[in-house]
Amino acid sequence: MSGPAPVPVLVTGVAGRMGLLIARGAALDDRCALAGATVRPGSYADGEDLGALAGAGPSGVKVCTQLEAAAAAAGGTPVVIDFTSPAALFDHVEVARARKLPLVVGTTGLADDHHAALDEAAREVPVLEAANTSLGANLLAALVARAAAALPEADIEIFELHHRAKKDSPSGTAILLGRAAAEARGQSWSEVAVPSRAGHAPRQPGTIGVFGLRGGTVPGEHTVTLFLDDERVELAHKVQDRSIFARGALTAARFLAGQAPGRYTMADVLGL
Ligand code: NAD
Repeated sequence: MSGPAPVPVLVTGVAGRMGLLIARGAALDDRCALAGATVRPGSYADGEDLGALAGAGPSGVKVCTQLEAAAAAAGGTPVVIDFTSPAALFDHVEVARARKLPLVVGTTGLADDHHAALDEAAREVPVLEAANTSLGANLLAALVARAAAALPEADIEIFELHHRAKKDSPSGTAILLGRAAAEARGQSWSEVAVPSRAGHAPRQPGTIGVFGLRGGTVPGEHTVTLFLDDERVELAHKVQDRSIFARGALTAARFLAGQAPGRYTMADVLGL
């Protein structure tokens, strides 16, 4: 008996760390089909065979530089998976909206205008935005929310570590965790967030500090500490291999295929 048809996916930025892992994951997963991929003009992978690039042998699908062209060549309604850069996102959202393609956004460092574009697209297509597609980090966010509500007096601080090439700071995951803590206390993240601290003043009550280190090849570590007088609680998540993000992105793509238009999160996918 054959299972459900594989979900076709289009991977933007397939020459990137995450893009390539997602393409490799899709090529090895019977539940997904690698329908197309893009790279930036000038990339070594422009015009390459996508299956061969993903390590699965020639597929006859060529990598190209425009999502519109990749979508036209793929046909149907593949799920677009975007782990590129904030600057690239607008075009990708526009193509997804115009072609009615579900969209998984893993790109971090997004600003208000990116979120507005995603909100607009979500009126017409399903959109899942996730600063972290791993099971563990999303579970951590749920635990942080619970702890923040249970300990309303606690001083909360977030510490994150990432590899030297990471561009956005604080990390999208640190923001996800900070927002979970703030909202569990009925606060607005933007009002309580203190992204790094300097100068000569005591800690302001109710604020949530976020601190980061950048170096080496660390795929991502986050620790949320809740300080009480004379004791503290630490909740942490440590990534050993960034393939967990690729697996999560493909799980999200399979979840999103066939959903109604709207905004979705990993909490919907993971049932947290
Ligand atoms: P990377 O720099 O290795 O890859 C990004 C790739 O996107 C590059 O190859 C770049 O050339 C390509 N790109 C940029 N603009 C493009 C365009 N218009 N068309 C096609 N390709 C384009 O970075 P990375 O480590 O793979 O991370 C990518 C993004 O994903 C970052 O925002 C990062 O923070 C985020 N990320 C999210 C998660 C998650 O779980 N959601 C996990 C890891 C990384």
